[in-house]
Amino acid sequence: MELSARARAAGDAIEPVTSFFLSLRAMDGQPDVVDLTFGDPHEMPLPALVDALRANVEPRAEDWFAYKTSLAPAQETIAAGLQAELGLPFAPDDIAMTQGAFGAIALAFRLVADVGDEVVIPEPGWFYAPMLRTADLVPVRAPLAADFDLDVEAIARAITPRTRIVVVNSPANPTGRVYAKDRLVELAAALEAASARNGRRIWLLSDEPYRRIRFGGIGFTSPAACYPWSLIDYSYGKVLLAPGQRLGYLALSPLIPRGERDELRAALLPLQMGLGWGFPDALMQYAVPALETVSIDLVELERRRDLMVGALGEAGYQLTVPEGAFYLWGAAPGGDAAAFAAALTERGVFVLPGTVFDRPDHFRISLTATTAMLERALPALRDLGPG
Ligand code: PLP
Repeated sequence: MELSARARAAGDAIEPVTSFFLSLRAMDGQPDVVDLTFGDPHEMPLPALVDALRANVEPRAEDWFAYKTSLAPAQETIAAGLQAELGLPFAPDDIAMTQGAFGAIALAFRLVADVGDEVVIPEPGWFYAPMLRTADLVPVRAPLAADFDLDVEAIARAITPRTRIVVVNSPANPTGRVYAKDRLVELAAALEAASARNGRRIWLLSDEPYRRIRFGGIGFTSPAACYPWSLIDYSYGKVLLAPGQRLGYLALSPLIPRGERDELRAALLPLQMGLGWGFPDALMQYAVPALETVSIDLVELERRRDLMVGALGEAGYQLTVPEGAFYLWGAAPGGDAAAFAAALTERGVFVLPGTVFDRPDHFRISLTATTAMLERALPALRDLGPG
């Protein structure tokens, strides 16, 4: 076998997703297919995004497209934005510019965890496991509560002496839950107690790519505001609905004690180089100041959420009404999401079965589809609903 153990482990960890990707081939060549699977755009890109790229593509110096690490104007813009949003005094030097949240998460895992360390991830949750396997780390799943709120006791139970990181994702993919401050304060106390017991610090990675995508005026508390030993990752791919233009960052919390923070900060650049020049393209970084205030239309997104929650609710579906992010998470009629998704596929409607999130009894719909697409999907969803 020529394949490395690491590549095999990553492949195994992401198998449900890759096999689902293969099943998507059924979409190829079919007319009028409604693709509600991933958080991808289905309309032309935001004009403000295009303007920001256009305004920066024309070189202003010889080194315009030279090798770039994290650029100061981008770091400064982000530190000021984080201070305004989260009320914490972030330092520009503590912001590492990355290729989206993916890049920031890969960096975080390697910044504080050692080979064989355990990382607690929420379940159902995003695809952290293959990233952990590729970093020679061990994913340990902690189930969310029945209503998909954070279950602090389940997290505490999942912690062992090898635990190094706990990942929190709010607003959450796929559930759309936004965790309240009280719950995060409870989690901070549990992490503090477990760190003391272990004699080794447990870090919190706050995965916040959907931080600005929230509904009904619901507030947002970053877990980083409740627990000092926190790293925050972010992506512009969601709020701009342009995930192919890779831009994000990892931010060290200003609450991390000074000496430890200095050490982490110094490690960022060599680690990003070691990860294969893990910095965003020069052009994306130049655009940061212009992009900081650009967003998809959240009013329209909330309208789509309400349309689908209303229509599917009437059809008898059990749904988690999303408070943020851009997905609708529901119980699959009959309890078998793979069969449900296959039956919908026959009708030209593609949804994401919960099998890819280790929840084979649920399904996810992306609300980044257009209203017309959602309306086209409704007859099939009604026909195949719980009745
Ligand atoms: N974290 C979560 C919860 C996500 O849903 C995603 C993307 O779907 C990411 C991280 C990665 O974001 P990006 O592709 O913008 O790097």
